[in-house]
Amino acid sequence: MIVILLGSPGSGKGTQCKRLADKYGFQHLATGDIFRAEIAAKSSIGAKAQDYLKAGKLVPDSIVIEMVAGKIDPGGKYLLDGFPRTVDQATGLAGMLKRVQANINLVVNLTLPKDEAIRRMASRRTCSGCGEVFNTITRPTQVEGVCDKCSGKVVQREDDSEATSAKRLMVFEDLTQPLVAYYRSESNLVEVDASQNPDKVEAALSAVIDAAKGGA
Ligand code: AMP
Repeated sequence: MIVILLGSPGSGKGTQCKRLADKYGFQHLATGDIFRAEIAAKSSIGAKAQDYLKAGKLVPDSIVIEMVAGKIDPGGKYLLDGFPRTVDQATGLAGMLKRVQANINLVVNLTLPKDEAIRRMASRRTCSGCGEVFNTITRPTQVEGVCDKCSGKVVQREDDSEATSAKRLMVFEDLTQPLVAYYRSESNLVEVDASQNPDKVEAALSAVIDAAKGGA
């Protein structure tokens, strides 16, 4: 089963994917997390990607598609988070899945007003050790700057700064938003309101996944 989560930066894709991966046994494939790990490991993919991440720009499609292609096995259960992000990546994914005779079962678009996305990115904090996501308003760490889970250092992601998050939202509107129309015509696309609290968003996502599983 393959489920794609679309949504602007700050819409909670990562948080929800972690919850759903645990609940349903999906493999969570988050291209942003993979790039950050590759950059931390100083790998060749990391070296190619780091300037794009820093500037809030998209990594070129060819690099992203090649990286994801090595990670999708036929018959696997995947939650795709942050990929595809352009129509070219979506057609690349379709070709990849055709070769392994797999299908996209569900595409969810997490909707969120732009001002709320900016507010969330400004208050988001991330553990540099395990990647756990906190929020200075809704989910502060118990000890300031220290991860509740692994005691790693909790910081603001460089690309969550005010200037870069505004740039990322522009990139999202220009390049990623057109995917909603693409998947509306190509797949089973469902919209979920991401401005609700995280438990309600999780419940809504679980309901659409359960419905898609029934029809899979
Ligand atoms: P995210 O963690 O999903 O917000 O992604 C952080 C950054 O990683 C983005 O701003 C891009 O620079 C890069 N990135 C992640 N996924 C993709 C993708 N599918 N295509 C291009 N760039 C990506």
